[in-house]
Amino acid sequence: MTELIHLTAAELAAGLVAGDVSSEEATRAHLDRIAAVDGELNAFLATDAEASLGAARAIDERRAAGEALGALAGVPLAIKDVLVTTDMPSTSGSRILEGYRSPYDATAVAKARAAGLVSIGKTNMDEFAMGSSTENSAYGPVRNQWAVGRVPGGSGGGSAVAVGAFEAPLALGSDTGGSIRQPAALTGTVGAKPTYGGVSRYGAIALASSLDQIGPCARTVLDTALLHDVIAGHDRHDSTSLDFAWPSMAEAARGGADPASLRGLRVGVVKQLMIEGVQPGVRSRFEEALALLAAQGAEIVEIDAPHFEYAVAAYYLILPAEASSNLAKYDSVRFGLRVVPEGVGTVESVMSETRAAGFGAEVKRRIILGTYALSAGYYDAYYGSAQKVRTLIQRDFAAAFARVDVIASPTAPTTAWPLGSHGGDPMQDYLNDATTIPANLAGIPGLSLPIGTASEDGLPVGLQLMAPAFEDARLYRAGAAVESLITARDGRAFWQQSPVFEGGAR
Ligand code: GLN
Repeated sequence: MTELIHLTAAELAAGLVAGDVSSEEATRAHLDRIAAVDGELNAFLATDAEASLGAARAIDERRAAGEALGALAGVPLAIKDVLVTTDMPSTSGSRILEGYRSPYDATAVAKARAAGLVSIGKTNMDEFAMGSSTENSAYGPVRNQWAVGRVPGGSGGGSAVAVGAFEAPLALGSDTGGSIRQPAALTGTVGAKPTYGGVSRYGAIALASSLDQIGPCARTVLDTALLHDVIAGHDRHDSTSLDFAWPSMAEAARGGADPASLRGLRVGVVKQLMIEGVQPGVRSRFEEALALLAAQGAEIVEIDAPHFEYAVAAYYLILPAEASSNLAKYDSVRFGLRVVPEGVGTVESVMSETRAAGFGAEVKRRIILGTYALSAGYYDAYYGSAQKVRTLIQRDFAAAFARVDVIASPTAPTTAWPLGSHGGDPMQDYLNDATTIPANLAGIPGLSLPIGTASEDGLPVGLQLMAPAFEDARLYRAGAAVESLITARDGRAFWQQSPVFEGGAR
């Protein structure tokens, strides 16, 4: 029998329905896996075996009683620590929230629990989701399960590694500039950033509210789609969540599994996303994927998007501006850490000592940048200009989608780099998001899936697909088709090629 941890979420769900396996057994198998490998990988910040097993047993009992349950009922779920939960601490990877307990569950988590998913732990991340390597976590970096000396991407490296290393079949992430898609690419897993507003942000610890989006991570396109279906939808607690009748993403993924569905699909390749910094092995895998699509009758169209060049610059004004304002609430009074200086402290000294001790270097850098960009006299020159660029990027996308159904690009310009090799130079990390950031600025959906390994280092390469707002299902359909083609080419699924697949810790 296949080991329980190697089942996809769809397979595990079928096994649960058939009574071949209980949720308690599946949950225990994943907890055992976490105990065996996470000391090295550091993908989890918190687990609570008793709570998870208790939730699993409750689902088993409800199933035994004949209750109608959701499609994923009983399947374990890892949760990025950016989402607040009542069962475990919620830190967003920061010291300032160490040990913080939320009185309520984020909506995405509440929806997952209501659908019967079993929370198995909170995953590690860059502090307040600022980063591209998970090295900015206050709790130590996450290691890439493909090569433990390499970064897993970020900020959601914990969620990506959790699914990639078989510690959980499913995980939740957040994507403000690529934090679901880029770690998916660097770890050989799948991740989706839904249309802005597609999933409620209520209970997501805010980074940049106009860019943040909660989304699903898994090892297969279908599993990602199944989780997307659970968390999508309007929420009265989030006024930006869309009241829209979303089609089933899982149905789209199942429909796409036949690559014949690619016939006639118009696939755009944006010139400006094929930047010079794209690693040769990434470029050649991407070109191979395009050839596979073309061989199925997809039409490849070159697209000019002149303003994409300024996306990273605009993002690093808009994001710090919004983040500096969102992070003002960590004031030593309302949440988490409080540092009281020696002698007579004033309100200001307690606040400043707390923020000095509680925030890491990258968070401080962005608070300073954002505060400056928003200051009187500079507001129009910086924030105002960045917002104009944002509009121009949205127009570039609109013009592109008048000609094509989806846009394809490498998800990230490079494969996973060695831990510590960027030596604290934030620019190198910022530029790794050049390919993912445009989708956040425009609010459109994006999906990353693995398409092979780069010849120079043998590490995973991701394909990013983007579609117009509300057309998330189109991504799952096309993504599932590409996944089938890659599986057929390689003779097995990409996740089965991972060095951790056959058992050992690496
Ligand atoms: N790496 C990007 C940043 O540092 C993206 C972060 C994210 O999507 N949360 O801002």
